[in-house]
Amino acid sequence: MKVLVINCGSSSLKYQLIDMDNESVICKGTFERIGDNAFLKHKINGNEYKFDQNVANHKEALEFVFEQLQDKDHPALESLDEISAIGHRVVHGGEKFASSVLINDEVIDAIDQCSSLAPAHNPNALIGIKACQDLVPGKPMVAVFDTAFHQTISKEKYICSVPYEYYTKYGLRKYGFHGTSHKYVSERISTLLHRNDLKIVNCHLGQGASICAIKEGKSVETSMGLTPTSGIPMCARSGDLDPAIVTFLMDKENLSTKEVNTLLNKKSGLLGISNVSNDFRDIYDAKIKGNELAKLAIDHYAYKVATFIASYMVSLNGLDVITFTAGIGENRPDLRKQICENLSYLGIKINDEKNDLGNEEMKISTEDSKVEVWVVPTNEELMIARDTLSLII
Ligand code: ADP
Repeated sequence: MKVLVINCGSSSLKYQLIDMDNESVICKGTFERIGDNAFLKHKINGNEYKFDQNVANHKEALEFVFEQLQDKDHPALESLDEISAIGHRVVHGGEKFASSVLINDEVIDAIDQCSSLAPAHNPNALIGIKACQDLVPGKPMVAVFDTAFHQTISKEKYICSVPYEYYTKYGLRKYGFHGTSHKYVSERISTLLHRNDLKIVNCHLGQGASICAIKEGKSVETSMGLTPTSGIPMCARSGDLDPAIVTFLMDKENLSTKEVNTLLNKKSGLLGISNVSNDFRDIYDAKIKGNELAKLAIDHYAYKVATFIASYMVSLNGLDVITFTAGIGENRPDLRKQICENLSYLGIKINDEKNDLGNEEMKISTEDSKVEVWVVPTNEELMIARDTLSLII
């Protein structure tokens, strides 16, 4: 059975066609700059095809992707009928969705209602869902939510210490994100260690980054909150701050709510401290060349990640495994080591040889480390495809 996974961003569309008989990727691609000199990079059988295709919206983009899937020159499918189902990544499911669901009109309305919590994301997912309904009518579709995995977090952990009426009035609380990735890594490490009773802290360190405490396969705490701005510092997002900093800066710099939002989401974090770049590779290169602020940004990041891991031992009342995943977590051995050195008091020890080997799935702690430390490359698309398949068979 073949499942198409679709992830609609504000101006991008990512997709993967997965053969679920052996969980292999048949083809994948990304449409970027939709509506403004759009182009598609489509990969199949080890070849990459680039098309400058100036599509105006996500529907036109999807139409072109469906043509590519059946292109005679590089066919992935003979007919779209071969697609058994489509899985859509949806960022926010609010309190309505604690798991993935088959999409119907009611679900579409509910996703729409959650848009006030994720105005930059949910509307895009709906555009993708509606475009598929038009282009391949009747095809079973499933919504997989970034927030769903965290719906197991208990109320004393997700409630915010502001007047309670804002929770009832606006749904103001911690939701958490990256749930698909945290769930994938937690299932993978449980399989690798043949245990389903593990206490895990997963560090998803990508462009956006979040930490999740997982007990017996369930999320019990996570670092992102009402929005993905909170938690640990990220490449360009601030993470947690003294809340008074927001109004302080608005007053001093005469910023509107929109401007302060841009400041906290696009100009802060590692970029904000280093003033180098929002790409970790550039910041790391600058640090190696002696840039003091780049070093400060990375030291701050490593310290913050370690303090979150340590605090999640309280949430879990213990800790068996720390996992590192996503672009930075998978590719930066030196950062993994620096984070774990901040935790050496707890008897966590890294095996340098293994850690330096790179980005493969492997244990990187020493045999006598009190907590196992692993690198587990994430695979959100596969998780979406698995959830999709499980709901249609
Ligand atoms: P997203 O959150 O957009 O899915 P990723 O998980 O792909 O992002 O992570 C992107 C981040 O990972 C970028 O900051 C990038 O610099 C960093 N990254 C990717 N590859 C490497 C690498 N080889 N070394 C260091 N950082 C990397």
